[in-house]
Amino acid sequence: MTILNLAFPAQAAAAAGFDSVIEKAPLERYVAPERPSLVGMSRAALADAFATIGIPERERRMRVQQLWHWLYVRGATSFDVMTSISKTVRTALEDRFTLARPEVVAEQISVDGTRKWLLRLPGETAERPHDVECVYIPETDRGTLCVSSQVGCTLNCSFCHTGTQRLVRNLTPGEIVGQVMVARDRLGDWSAPAAPTQGEAREGSNRLVTNIVMMGMGEPLYNFGAVRDALLVVSDGDGIGISKRRITLSTSGVVPNIARAGSEIGVMLAVSLHAVRDDLRNTLVPLNRKYPIHELLQACRNYPGLSNARRITFEYVMLKGVNDSIADAKALVRLLKGIPAKINLIPFNPWPGSHYECSDWEQIEKFSEVVFNAGYASPVRTPRGRDILAACGQLKSATEKLSARERLALRAMAMTD
Ligand code: SAH
Ligand code: SF4
Repeated sequence: MTILNLAFPAQAAAAAGFDSVIEKAPLERYVAPERPSLVGMSRAALADAFATIGIPERERRMRVQQLWHWLYVRGATSFDVMTSISKTVRTALEDRFTLARPEVVAEQISVDGTRKWLLRLPGETAERPHDVECVYIPETDRGTLCVSSQVGCTLNCSFCHTGTQRLVRNLTPGEIVGQVMVARDRLGDWSAPAAPTQGEAREGSNRLVTNIVMMGMGEPLYNFGAVRDALLVVSDGDGIGISKRRITLSTSGVVPNIARAGSEIGVMLAVSLHAVRDDLRNTLVPLNRKYPIHELLQACRNYPGLSNARRITFEYVMLKGVNDSIADAKALVRLLKGIPAKINLIPFNPWPGSHYECSDWEQIEKFSEVVFNAGYASPVRTPRGRDILAACGQLKSATEKLSARERLALRAMAMTD
C-alpha cells in the first residue's frame, strides 16, 4: 500500500515535483574562529599549521608526527603537556591555534550505559549557535559511537525528524573528528592520558570506542569532503586508529557519492532502503526520485571490496501498514539477492507531528522471520538508551512521553535483547 499524504506539505510538493523538496540548500556558512583548532586536521593541514609558525619544510614531517601522537593517541587538551615538542614551538602554536573540541552542553547516561552528549557548535552569528547530538552505545564486545555529519539534513525523509529541520550547515572535519575526541575525553578512553580522565589508560583491545557509525544527524554523502577527511583521520593507524572495517557510513542513497565513498574513504556502507518499490520510496525518501532503487542497488553491487565478510547493511524502518507486509519482506529478500547484505529492521521511533506509527511487534517478528529464513541473521536493531531517548538518526524532546505502542514494542524488544 502506498501512503501519499497530500495534507503533509513535503509530500504534497514531492507529488507536484518540486526539486526543493528533494534537497535543501545550506542556509549558513561555517565561520572559522580567529584561532582555529588543530583537532580534526589532516597531516597536510598540520604541516601548513607548522608553516604558518615558520617551521622549515624539512622539519615539518617529523613535527606533524609528534603532534599527531599528542592529538590522536594521547588526546592532549593543552599544549603544556606536549613535552616532546619544544616550549618555543608550543608557544608559537598556542598563539595561533587551540585544541578546542565541540563544547559539551549536556551529558546523559542511561541505565544501560548508553551516553548521549549534546554538543554546541558555533553558528554564523554568535547569538545563534547550533546543537548536534553524539551517542555512545556500549555492548559486550564493542562500543559504538553514533556521529553527526550535518546540523539538520539536506534531505527530507518523511519519517525522520531531522528531515523536518531546515538544513543549517555542514559540519567541518574538525567538528566530526571532535565528536570522537569528546567521547574519548568523557569516557577516559585515551592511551596513557595526557590529562586526568575518569578512567584508567586504555590500550588496544581495552578501548571503549571501537566502532563508529555515521548515523547521527545529516546525510554524510552531502558533506562528502568533510566526512572523508574526518574519517581518514579517525581511521589513521598512528592516531585514533579505528579500522575502516569498524566504521559504517549510512546514506539514504546519494548514488554518485557511493562509488566515491568506496574509493576515497573505504569504510563499510549502510543504505537506508526502507521500501522495495519506487512509488513508496519516493514518498519515504524523496531522494529516490533522483536516484531510484535499481540505480541505488547497482551502486551497491559495484561497492568495492564486498564479500560475505564485508557486507552492505540495508536499513529498513518498520512503519505500520506502510512497508511492513509479508509481501514487502519477500520482495526485500528478492531485491537484495546477489548482494552481500545484512538487513537491519529498525522499529520506527515516533516524534511529535509524525505521520507514521511503528509496526506492531508481532508484525515485526513475522517480517523478520521471512528475512531470517532467507539467511540474514539478527535483523532487528534493538534501540538502546531509551530512557535518555538516544536513538540514532533523530532528535527527540526529552520531555516527550513514549506512546503506548512504543512501550509495548520496547518491552518485547527488551525480552529479545
Ligand atoms: N542520513 C543518513 C544517516 C542518518 S539517519 C541516512 O538516512 O541513512 C540514520 C538511520 O536512522 C537511517 O536509516 C534513517 O532512515 C533512520 N531513521 C531516521 N528517522 C527515524 C525514525 N524516526 N525511526 C527510526 N529510524 C529512523
Ligand atoms: Fe536526512 Fe537520513 Fe533523516 Fe533522511 S533519514 S532526512 S537522509 S538524516
